[in-house]
Amino acid sequence: MVASEVRALFAVASRPEVVSLAGGMPNVSALPLEELGDLVSRVVTEQGATALQYGSAQGDPALREHICDVMSLEGIDASADDVIVTVGSQQALDLITRVFVDPGDVVVAEAPTYVTALNTFAAFQAEVAHVTMDDEGVIPEALEETLGRLRAEGRRVKFFYTVPTFQNPAGVTLTPERRRRVLEICERFGVLILEDNPYGLLGFDGEPMRALRADAPDRVIYLGSFSKILSPGFRMGWALAPSAVRAKLVLAAESAMLSHSTFNQLVVGQYLSTHPWREQIKTFGAMYRGRCEAMLGALDGLMPEGCSWTKPAGGFFVWLTLPEGLDSKAMLPLAVNERVAYVPGTGFYANEEGRRNMRLSFCYPTPEQIREGVRRLSGVIEREIALRDTFGDVTTRPTDGTDAPSPDVP
Ligand code: PMP
Repeated sequence: MVASEVRALFAVASRPEVVSLAGGMPNVSALPLEELGDLVSRVVTEQGATALQYGSAQGDPALREHICDVMSLEGIDASADDVIVTVGSQQALDLITRVFVDPGDVVVAEAPTYVTALNTFAAFQAEVAHVTMDDEGVIPEALEETLGRLRAEGRRVKFFYTVPTFQNPAGVTLTPERRRRVLEICERFGVLILEDNPYGLLGFDGEPMRALRADAPDRVIYLGSFSKILSPGFRMGWALAPSAVRAKLVLAAESAMLSHSTFNQLVVGQYLSTHPWREQIKTFGAMYRGRCEAMLGALDGLMPEGCSWTKPAGGFFVWLTLPEGLDSKAMLPLAVNERVAYVPGTGFYANEEGRRNMRLSFCYPTPEQIREGVRRLSGVIEREIALRDTFGDVTTRPTDGTDAPSPDVP
């Protein structure tokens, strides 16, 4: 196990003078804190005997019913029996990898992909085979080619991991036509899909995208989370899995933590029964939309020629590609000196790719901070372009060793 690049960055990026476009922290400022406070107090006074007791590893039955209501917004028709509550969807990733993966097995994943999923796969010694994406999500032909190659090599593929909607880190969304193709290809190769969907309800316009799970209940394990539609502080997520898989996940969860926090589950359950949570999600979506517009507007106005970036329709992230010859990791200390932080692209790949990329988050800073952060960043990139034009490719440029500190040692 190694520390993720995001983790190493937090210490630097949390200095007040730095505009952090790095971390993916949800902006909980839009939550009705007083109402939540009343609700917490009611759970203790009215349901204390249950709330303060052990519970089950599968999770509170009433909460699992509510979770089915949440998933129905994405076209999923599920039974609460097939839901397992998890400590954020991160625990679901851990449990599923624990149950499925033996050292040397292959996990197929989009490139780039969620950094902490990669860390989990690495912790269980899975080998990651990447599949290329473009602005419409994973490319079906590339998936087909990768699965075909792995089959010809006799490799054991355990699942295809995908974040199909408002992806972390790329911000892109798999189109309906490609969803059909991906399902058909995985069906043909007999490959299970792990659909990780924490941002699916945070679209800026229109109805939520139909989940992959909605059209292939036996082929897809679906992961959801309350972290972005309520709060990450509750550490509450879930997995919806075919029943044989779900039974194994419950056993794995029991050995990992015996039972969930009953208290947290009852609080979230009460919130879902008494609060207009669908409206709250729309409030979050409108806030993130404003911040995304601020970022895209600033990028359009300020970024030097040769940079390109994705245009998300929801979620938290923009994925930026630097001009040829620039290196986002090498550039990070310079950016931090200029009081702006981002996540270098390399962390989102299991191989050495991503040097020309960076993830920019618009979820947490205010629109003014975002504009200022992009202004600082564009200045750094402009200087790097000028240096490249003088000295050549940044990776071959001579250094006198007096650079700013490495991002891994904040
Ligand atoms: N999957 C993805 C794609 C994420 O972006 C995150 C959070 N950054 C998670 C899973 C884990 O979220 P949580 O454990 O808070 O539900």
